[in-house]
Parts: sequence; C-alpha cells; structure tokens
Amino acid sequence: MEKWKFEDLKLSEEINKAVEDMGFEEASPIQSQAIPYILTGKDVIGQAQTGTGKTAAFGIPILEMVDLESRVPQAVILCPTRELAIQVAEELKRLSKYKKDIGILPIYGGQPIERQIKALKKGIQIIIGTPGRVMDHMRRRTLKMGTVKKVILDEADEMLDMGFREDIETILDKIPEDRQTILFSATMPRAILDLTKKYQKDPQLVKVVHKALTVPSIEQIYFEVKQKMKAEILCRLIDMYNPKLSLIFCNTKKKVDELVNTLQIRGFFADGLHGDMKQQQRDRVMTKFRNGTIDILVATDVAARGIDVDDVEAVFNYDVPQDEEYYVHRIGRTGRAGRTGRAFTFVVGREIYKLRDIQRYAKTKIKLRQVPSISDVQEVKTSEFIEKVKETVEQGHLSQYVHWIEKLTEEEYTSLDIAAALLKIAVTSENKEDTVEDDYNDTGAAAGMVRLFINVGRNHRIKAKDIVGSIASNTGISGRVIGTIDIYDKYTFVEVPREYAREVLVLMKDNSIKGSKINIEPANRK
Ligand code: ADP
Ligand code: MG
Repeated sequence: MEKWKFEDLKLSEEINKAVEDMGFEEASPIQSQAIPYILTGKDVIGQAQTGTGKTAAFGIPILEMVDLESRVPQAVILCPTRELAIQVAEELKRLSKYKKDIGILPIYGGQPIERQIKALKKGIQIIIGTPGRVMDHMRRRTLKMGTVKKVILDEADEMLDMGFREDIETILDKIPEDRQTILFSATMPRAILDLTKKYQKDPQLVKVVHKALTVPSIEQIYFEVKQKMKAEILCRLIDMYNPKLSLIFCNTKKKVDELVNTLQIRGFFADGLHGDMKQQQRDRVMTKFRNGTIDILVATDVAARGIDVDDVEAVFNYDVPQDEEYYVHRIGRTGRAGRTGRAFTFVVGREIYKLRDIQRYAKTKIKLRQVPSISDVQEVKTSEFIEKVKETVEQGHLSQYVHWIEKLTEEEYTSLDIAAALLKIAVTSENKEDTVEDDYNDTGAAAGMVRLFINVGRNHRIKAKDIVGSIASNTGISGRVIGTIDIYDKYTFVEVPREYAREVLVLMKDNSIKGSKINIEPANRK
C-alpha cells in the first residue's frame, strides 16, 4: 500500500484544483487509504502519526459528501483544542476553495458565544468545535443535531487525555443513529477502542505506520554567526520567541554538555541527552521535558531518535547537521500536530555550502536573517505583549479592572500614560537582559555607551585605528559606532554602544591585537 495520485481517487474537479493550489503532489498514505472508504459512507477508524495529513483524509470526503443545497448542519468535527479546531477549519476552507459558498464554522471556548450564534444562523453545514463549546450550543439549542449525518472525532486520543470522554459521549448520543461515525487518532489506546465499539457500526480500520510527510510547513531560518557568539545568540532567540519547548541539536556529546552548562548558568531550564547516558537517566530527562520542568532540551541526533514530543515550538541547529537527512529529522520535531514551529540554523563560515546541499536534498528554502540585537529582542517582546493585550481586550470580562483605571484617571493621570507605564513594567520586568546589563552601569561611559578596558596600550604600539579595526573585524559592528578611545601606556579604554557590549566582550575575548594577546572587560569607574 503506497501513495496515490489525487486523480486516482476520483474526486471532484473542485477538490482536485484546490489540492493542486495547496501544492499537494500526491495523496499521503492515510489519505489514499481512508478517502475511498469514507466516501462509501462506512464508519472508519484512521490511525496515523501526527503530520501525516489526517485532516484532509477526512476533510476531503466530507466536503465531497456535503449536500450543498441544504443549508443545515450536516457534519460535526470534534477537536481537542481551540487551535486545532481553527486549523482544521482553515484546512477545510482551503480545500473547499472552489466549492461555492460552503458553510464551515469553527466554534470554541474563549470566543464570544453571541458571535458564534449569529454565524450559526447563516446556514452552516460543517461545524468544527471543541466538545465543551459544542455542548454549550446544544444546550442553548443554537446548534441542533437532528440533521447531522457525519461526525468526526479528530485527534481522539488527545481528546480522551484531556478528559472529554463524557462530553463526547453526550454529543454522540444526540446525533441520529443513521449517521456515519469517523474517528482519527495517532494512537489506539484501550479507551479509544471502547469508544469505537460503543459508537461505531462495523468500522473499517485504516492504519498507516509511515513516516511523516517531508519537511513540515514551518519557518526555517539561518543565521551567519561566529562560533563564539552561538550561545549568546541562542539565548537572545529564546528570549525573543519564548518557545514553549525548544530542542537544540549539537553534533557532539561534548558540545551538548558544554551548552547545557552555559544555559543553566544563564538561568535557563535546560538539560541534555546524549548517547553516553544510561536509559534511566534519559528517561528522567525526557520526563522533565514532557512535563515542562525543563523547557530546553539539548541533544545529539542519535540520542534524539524517537523523541516524540508535541509542543516543541523551536528547533535549533546549533551545529549544522553532518548529514542532510538529519536536518529533515531534526526540524520535523517542531510544528507537529499543526502547531506553530520554527527552525533556526547557525551557520559558521564555509558551512554555508553544507546548507545549500541540505536545501537541495530536503527541497526546502531556508531564509537568511540578520542576527537579532538586544533591541530587536526588546521590540519583538513588546509587540508580542501588545498582541496579548489585544486578545485580552477582545475577550472582555475587564470591568473589575476598568474600575481601577477609572479611579486613577480621577487622580488626573491620563489613560495613555497609565497604559504606557503598565507596558513598561510588563516588558521590562521579565527581561533578563536588564539585570545582566547592570554590570555595565558603572563604567563611566557616555550615555548609551559602555566603557571597556583592554590590557594593551602605547607600549604595545597600539593606535586607535588598531582598536577600531580589531573590534570591527571581529564583531562585525561598524567602526563608526565605536566611541571614545583613550590609550595609555599599558592599557586602553574604548567605548562601545551598550547594546553591543556583551557581543564585543564575547567576541574579543582571547584575541590578539598587534601580536599581543588581550584581556578585555568592562571598565571599573573607581
Ligand atoms: P495530522 O492531522 O495527521 O497531524 P495534518 O492534517 O495537520 O496532519 O497535516 C500536516 C501538514 O501536511 C499540513 O500542513 C497539511 O496541509 C499538509 N498535507 C496534508 N496532506 C498533504 C499531502 N498530500 N501532501 C503534502 N502536504 C500535505
Ligand atoms: Mg490532525
């Protein structure tokens, strides 16, 4: 059993066109197997790993079977979370691009119910919802199940894990018996089998144990970096994107240990996984990663084999993988189950050629990005926070807080100033950079600058241009932004913009200027 061409599945012209627009070249194995069965109207149990295209496997036949003339609820798709409900709805909308005027609606908690009620009145045919919210609408009689002919339990294992069993049963009990019941799940624990026994009629099991579709549709980025800056940049990226879980790949065990150490010193919750560890140790680390005790896992390719964790939002190729295939395996660990994911690759010097090979092999595009400066980190964090504020405003239930703000405005503070102050507190209080940078507060430099001490001076034939040249060539920052340089017999002071201070310190460490090995540190005012 292999993959089929979509044309062989005898689908409508509209679906074939949409699938082509979406860039699907052929049906995935689960799609090839499940679509024909579902089209016969039989009950189906579909089992395949995450990322294998299960949504289209049930979505395509459902769209094909909807009676476009009848504007009543015909299919209900239950999903475990709001994100998944939205994603399934979006995938169905893309698939139905050429099916005129088909009514598809996601309903989930957290969105004002009135808005959903209004939307439901517009002749929705396919409803995608979380069990809680679907029940809510059933109770309010804003969603009637009498006309529903198909019900799909998507990610059924996850729904049971989340405690939706009773809700699911309540919903299924309300849907007319002559319905078609379809269940998709990545795993088939006992509880799922019980559910299928109770609610399905002579179901056809379709099981695929194939690997995931090639590279998932996640953002792939690379940075050209110096070896010495990797740890610093990694920390900035983690601060900036704040991924729920991060997976970092190094090429050697030694690197794994070193990096774990560096991250732990900087206060991150990180741990490592490599081939030298005993199974028991590994299990312990994996448990910590799964339950969120640590949110950063550093691993070698071999040790990471078989890791199956869903919430990895960022994969870092701290080292460019030696083998092209590893790249695909590594980044396949993020963006699973349709979640957002990002893959970052650090490229040093000639490794850029390796990256080209990888792109060719994986038929993928990895985009170059500028390494984020500390102010970029701040900017992104601020804009992410503002997004959160917008969401919170949308969700409402703020009257209790509005009351406090009203009190403040009576004291003659403007609401603009209050909002700005709150933003400042929120964005700076969680910023680790600030505390680290405090080391630079007392170097006696001009505003916005940090004064650095270097232990070479006139006696070493050092001139200002040597200092500028060395800093510029080692760090890539422009010579023009370097400030005052004071050269004495045995040492030199140089001022650099505050946001580059850390970078300069890391990159200049152990370098030589005019043949003298240097020591560099923040100047001491006293
Ligand atoms: P699952 O539900 O099995 O975890 P999804 O349905 O979320 O997987 O699909 C994962 C990704 O693969 C989605 O981005 C989807 O658009 C894409 N996809 C689905 N079918 C195909 C296909 N036949 N060819 C290429 N990509 C596909
Ligand atoms: Mg899915």
